[in-house]
Amino acid sequence: MAVSADPVVPRWADWPLCQAAPMGAPGCIGGQLDPDQPCFAHSDDDGRAAAMRRLRDGISLDFLLGAEVTEELLAEVLAAAPTKDGRKVFPFVDLRGARFHSTAGFDGVSFEGPVWSAWSTFQGDAGFFEASFQRYAWFGGATFRDDARFGGASFADGAWFDRATFQGNSDFHTASFGRASGPGRPWFGEMRFQGPAGFGGATFAGTTSFDGAVLGDGADFRAASFHRDARFDRTTFAGTTRFERAAFAGDADFRAASFHRGLGFARASFHGRAWFDQARFEGSTGFGEARFAGTSSFDGAAFEGDADFRAASFHRGTGFGRASFHGRASFERAAFEGDADFRAVSFQGEARFDRVRGTIRR
Ligand SMILES: [Zn+2]
Repeated sequence: MAVSADPVVPRWADWPLCQAAPMGAPGCIGGQLDPDQPCFAHSDDDGRAAAMRRLRDGISLDFLLGAEVTEELLAEVLAAAPTKDGRKVFPFVDLRGARFHSTAGFDGVSFEGPVWSAWSTFQGDAGFFEASFQRYAWFGGATFRDDARFGGASFADGAWFDRATFQGNSDFHTASFGRASGPGRPWFGEMRFQGPAGFGGATFAGTTSFDGAVLGDGADFRAASFHRDARFDRTTFAGTTRFERAAFAGDADFRAASFHRGLGFARASFHGRAWFDQARFEGSTGFGEARFAGTSSFDGAAFEGDADFRAASFHRGTGFGRASFHGRASFERAAFEGDADFRAVSFQGEARFDRVRGTIRR
């Protein structure tokens, strides 16, 4: 008999699938509890009790792959998880493809093993406020239909959110992202944020990639610190974007990024190289008092609103080759210690360079 791929089984459901769905019904994508056993939902009471015991004994939460997680089932899972020092403790967690029907309340939970939550769907809020992920966390391709609360969470061993979609507010303020030693994927590449995204005060210990991500509403990275290279190349910032007082210890790559509703980098500090080549700044742009310790480059950047670089300091060479300023350009009191190349820049509005320190080539 020819076996044809079930058209309702998504390609990512690559675990041993439950075979218990009734004939004619769409296949069940629940993971088998044991070889040749059905999934948790289709199992008998003994099978379910054995699975729950593995969680209670601190071995693993491994029976929710592809599962429909109702409010009742989640309550049962949370009740079964052991408690240590007042925190719920989860061992290795595999939630790939699980669909949470209600709020997923993992606030303050301690995840001692890796968390695999790729392709999960959170229909209600995803609550991971101040959760501690002691190994890596993988949320690649996950869908957050309501708010995602990761404020104050700590990811000790890296976090992967590549291609995840956030439809509500996403809050990662003061979250800390450790250096990854897990699978070699980008962290936030090609993520889609439809609501506001908050990363204020977050710390990123490893190389951080938001390349190709779309931040559809406001993006708040105020006072975020990036300890290694940060990549935002081709990132779309559709709402108001705030990087005031952000600190970039490595290179900051914003090449071909687009900022549609105004951008603030006031008092941000760039310790490595800073690239903004071909970036498009549609609203007003503020780099006032920003500090560029390494070389910086704005080649071909288009400033369509006013651009404020007052009292910015450029400690190495900077190039604005072929940049265009369509509104007011303010460089008053800026300091240029290295080469400052403005020769091919086009200024269509007023350009102010009063009390600039250093030499500018114009
Ligand atoms: Zn099943």
